[in-house]
Amino acid sequence: MSAPDATGMRILVIEDQRDIAANIWDFLERRGHAVDHCADGATGLARARLGGFDAIVLDLGLPRLDGLALCRALRDAGDGVPVLMLTARDTLEDKLRGYAEGADDYMVKPFALRELEARLRALHRRCAPAATPAPLSHAGLAYDPAMLAATREGRRIPLTRMQGALLAALLAKAPHVCARERLLRTLWPGGDGDIAALHTLVYELRALVDRPFARPLIASVRGVGYRIAEAP
Ligand code: CA
Repeated sequence: MSAPDATGMRILVIEDQRDIAANIWDFLERRGHAVDHCADGATGLARARLGGFDAIVLDLGLPRLDGLALCRALRDAGDGVPVLMLTARDTLEDKLRGYAEGADDYMVKPFALRELEARLRALHRRCAPAATPAPLSHAGLAYDPAMLAATREGRRIPLTRMQGALLAALLAKAPHVCARERLLRTLWPGGDGDIAALHTLVYELRALVDRPFARPLIASVRGVGYRIAEAP
């Protein structure tokens, strides 16, 4: 494999359909990226665990270990590598399950290869250490993007990348309200998010940083969005 140029990413493609994998590989390599490929989930997980990838393109339906289980295994091990999940079906359930297991973005087959590359670049930018903002906090709730963790009352609470991005967006506006539309654009820059996915993500975040504590901090502002503020 030739070395990537200055703008090239190192991308792991885990996809069992040989023709799709070959198309992705050919396109991305011609665009200057270094591509590695695995055709089943177990091999893909082992390769991903070796590290060194800027992003992973992960098929949902895979032999030996499916994409959801693979993604969960990576996140459980604290691996925050950006994951773009591919699926054959455009179902909300698939999408929500993918995000719940820690996927960062989601595309439905068939897709345009240019769009795939644009999404991978966006994920890479969003996750690059240089772009990581400083820790944020309000009302005793803090988020450290470098550690992908919240802290509250001295407790460290690990978050998925999506949960962390939601918390960061809310903290950046706190104590003011963050509009749903703004959250959708921030969290799903590819335009793939919807209100249901946002509700699910807010629910997950509340379960982690609000429910275990005496005072709730994440408030819904009906018809507008969400805010982090101490109850009056
Ligand atoms: Ca498949």
